[in-house]
Amino acid sequence: MNEQNIREVVIVGGGTAGWMAAAAFSRYLNNGYTRTTLIESEEIGTIGVGEATIPPLINFNAMLGINENDFVAATNASFKIGIEFVNWGGVGERYFHPFGTYGHDLQGVHFHQLYLRERKKRVLQDISAWSMSAVAAANGKFARPGPSARAPLSQIRYAFHFDASLYAAFLRRYAESNGVRRIEGKIVDTNLRSDDGFVESVVLADGQVIEGDLFIDCSGFRGLLIEQALSTGYEEWTHWLPCDRAVAVPCSYQNGPDPFTRATAYESGWQWRIPLQHRMGNGLVYSSNHISDDDARQLLLSNLEGQPLADPRKLSFVTGRRKLAWNRNVVAMGLSSGFVEPLESTSIHLIQTGISKLLALFPDKSFNPVERDEYNRQMQALFEDVRDFIILHYKMTKRNDSDFWNYCRTMGIPESLERKVALWRAKGRVFRDELELFATPSWVAVMLGQGVVPESYEPVADSLDEEKVADAMEQIRLANLETAERLPTHGEFIAQILGRPPAHAEVPQFTL
Ligand SMILES: Cc1cc2nc3c(=O)[nH]c(=O)nc-3n(C[C@H](O)[C@H](O)[C@H](O)COP(=O)(O)OP(=O)(O)OC[C@H]3O[C@@H](n4cnc5c(N)ncnc54)[C@H](O)[C@@H]3O)c2cc1C
Repeated sequence: MNEQNIREVVIVGGGTAGWMAAAAFSRYLNNGYTRTTLIESEEIGTIGVGEATIPPLINFNAMLGINENDFVAATNASFKIGIEFVNWGGVGERYFHPFGTYGHDLQGVHFHQLYLRERKKRVLQDISAWSMSAVAAANGKFARPGPSARAPLSQIRYAFHFDASLYAAFLRRYAESNGVRRIEGKIVDTNLRSDDGFVESVVLADGQVIEGDLFIDCSGFRGLLIEQALSTGYEEWTHWLPCDRAVAVPCSYQNGPDPFTRATAYESGWQWRIPLQHRMGNGLVYSSNHISDDDARQLLLSNLEGQPLADPRKLSFVTGRRKLAWNRNVVAMGLSSGFVEPLESTSIHLIQTGISKLLALFPDKSFNPVERDEYNRQMQALFEDVRDFIILHYKMTKRNDSDFWNYCRTMGIPESLERKVALWRAKGRVFRDELELFATPSWVAVMLGQGVVPESYEPVADSLDEEKVADAMEQIRLANLETAERLPTHGEFIAQILGRPPAHAEVPQFTL
């Protein structure tokens, strides 16, 4: 064993970030030499929200060798095939952002380009009709694509809604059984090395001193090591994303569960609706400059579809990112590394990516700056990509019914997003940079959904025969409908894989 290898990894915090990191390290740093210790404080607790995810989480579970049905059972999870947006482009409007693709690209031409061309000639249904995920969601149906499934079912992509505290507990069992040491206790001090300012150890309230070579700061918004000890600095994005508070409450529900998250915009923010197997997660994300906490709480409670199951919890946040996710021998993950509101359910994904990128650039005791800089470059690009995609939802609106929407509609946006919008407006083009998370169909869904229709389409689309394209499009549309009809309802699917009867009655939730 190379004696330069990291011996002691100390994870500070046992929320979703801490236990995801611990589980991954217990598998991938399992070299008989490196030891992982996680410190958490029950007195401080976790943030207790974070229930909707995006498809790459499947890879994280798979990378840990977790059986997906065991995970669904242990976390009361349901499946998610997209997000329904209500009142975003304008009051009374709805659209669906599906996971997966639209139709098929033909002869190298993107499907959405053919759709845009057809739309110039005749009245066409919403593009959702060409997404298998959207058609299944509209009918309350779900099935996994399966390795051998043929189109259209093979086009479904899915993620999960789950109980975040149950997921952390599930990963804790996994990590501890793979040798991760857990210490219960509150950190009250941090010791820095005098020569280089690296973190040497943390001190617990009971006097224990825990030393480490590498520290992972998963302490939540407070950023115990990355900010309180190392003063790394924070880049705020509140001028682009003015929401700074949330109030969350679970409730009971009758019908469903729907295989999608719903995000409903109101005058000064928006409300999430996340159906789990046993309850509905709800929360209002809002701008405290535009609505009071009491009014936000009332608005949330008046828009629940069942009995509240707990007292509403208020959370404050500052949108932005830590200037360096990796500073000296501390890597911040989760809320300590930054936060962008949960409109596209990206925070847990940022944790997952932070973990895989750290494993790919794992340091030794020399802490070569080149590895740190590369990590920071990649994480910054990812955070900014997520930021731009969320800003898009606020900026591209016709809403003028409140100060909040007037501000969002008229605000300046990052240059990176301006360029994307301009390319889209001209000929519906979307280019995905190397490190970007959201693929072309996601940009297409939100742009068209919020009423941003390009002036034209790519000239290469004209090289395809019009009649053949129209026929192919009709076949795809019908195949989606026929396939959706044959699928089990989402509730039936969950019941099947868990071997028990469906818990709720089912109703289709919306029309495309
Ligand atoms: C309103 C809202 C909605 C969200 N919705 C989603 C969503 O739908 N999807 C999604 O992907 N993400 C969502 N997120 C983000 C998600 O909740 C977080 O990314 C995730 O929970 C990770 O949190 P964390 O582990 O970084 O922090 P926390 O859960 O806050 O955990 C911090 C840990 O650090 C420990 N700690 C802190 N200080 C000390 C100390 N001094 N000594 C010892 N231990 C200490 C705490 O005890 C705790 O264990 C949402 C966030 C908010 C605010």
